Amino acid sequence: MTAMVKAEGVHKSFGAAHILKGIDLEVAPREVFCLIGPSGSGKSTFLRCINHLEQINAGRLYVDGDLVGYRQKGDKLYELKDSEVALQRRDIGMVFQRFNLFPHMTALENVIEAPIQVKGETRAVARARAERLLDRVGLSDKAGNYPSQLSGGQQQRVAIARALAMEPKLMLFDEPTSALDPELVGDVLDVMRGLAEEGMTMIVVTHEMGFAREVGDALVFMDDGVVVESGHPRDVLTNPQHDRTKSFLSKVL
Ligand code: ADP
Ligand code: MG
Repeated sequence: MTAMVKAEGVHKSFGAAHILKGIDLEVAPREVFCLIGPSGSGKSTFLRCINHLEQINAGRLYVDGDLVGYRQKGDKLYELKDSEVALQRRDIGMVFQRFNLFPHMTALENVIEAPIQVKGETRAVARARAERLLDRVGLSDKAGNYPSQLSGGQQQRVAIARALAMEPKLMLFDEPTSALDPELVGDVLDVMRGLAEEGMTMIVVTHEMGFAREVGDALVFMDDGVVVESGHPRDVLTNPQHDRTKSFLSKVL
């Protein structure tokens, strides 16, 4: 079975700052893959590399068997054209800590925008799907609201619906509940749990250890640009093997 994501010795630097120092990992199709670690350890950078928002400096990164951002001929790598990168990105949904909705568009308009602009769908088709998706995230009554008229949790659920509207094969979540008031976190996690049950492949950067334990199939603890420890969430969270993992978990659990 082809891995949905495969990283082999991935390095990333910003100038002299060496951020990712040889990441190896594999995410299987339909897996909920949780990524945890201290602030600054490179979690967001790694997610951005999967989307080719950042270019890696060494190693190989594959999504669904395809090299991200490059074509390989013999031993040489050739960068893909922007249009080819855009095609790869279409299949990857991303949800950020800050919801990044278009402020001048209603919830519904936010969700139909990319399918119409990027995929050339008709408004009617895009709208029918958007209505289904807004219903699924519990917001069918908010379709006409602007982001400023929605709570943070509602905005984040619109952001999830917007990502799903492109029918991605992989969803990347970068601390999707970190900016939310505590009472709004549950609704967002419930939507993510539902997605997991439907078999969506998801990489989730999160500090929600309860979610990781209950929904995660795999968990990686990253620190200072390396994978320190990985395994089933239950095992890593209850029986961490490395001091760095223990120290981190003692602060967040
Ligand atoms: P995390 O998500 O685990 O908190 P990040 O991936 O956001 O960590 O950041 C890891 C390190 O990379 C940080 O020290 C950050 O300052 C640095 N960094 C991230 N993006 C850039 C950038 N575009 N230019 C320079 N440094 C960056
Ligand atoms: Mg981050």
